[in-house]
Amino acid sequence: MYAPDRDQDLRWMQRAIDLAALCPPAPGAYSVGAIVVGEDGTELASAYSRATGPREHAEEVALAQLPQDDPRLAGATIYSTLEPCSQRSASRTPCAQRILEAGIPRVVIAWREPSLFVDDCIGYEQLVAAGVSVSELPELAAAAKAVNSHLPGMG
Ligand SMILES: [Zn+2]
Repeated sequence: MYAPDRDQDLRWMQRAIDLAALCPPAPGAYSVGAIVVGEDGTELASAYSRATGPREHAEEVALAQLPQDDPRLAGATIYSTLEPCSQRSASRTPCAQRILEAGIPRVVIAWREPSLFVDDCIGYEQLVAAGVSVSELPELAAAAKAVNSHLPGMG
């Protein structure tokens, strides 16, 4: 499992935040960046919200860049600037579920989802309950939030 020191985690997350800044702003959706890093520390995929479609989440776009049976996923870490979602308004698989299906053992997030669009995001809890290692980087939460200044209460 890719579990580098905290400084390296912070560097990957800073890059994910830079990706989040590229998101086309949408009135009802967060701007998020996500990066999948392999066990050997190489970047396998990276994406941001709505990169290739108006309803896409960053984790979804990043995972779509890899074959579902890619053996590197079993040792990978996914960095996401926001807690992976546990429910979605459209009929699409929530990102926490996608991460579990991909078999990724480690998730690093900067910001827990506030109760803005869903009452209670339990992506974090779902991942932990399934045995995934979830780390939070609270020192980057403000930066992850700052790219969402288009949303109510975030400016
Ligand atoms: Zn999502």
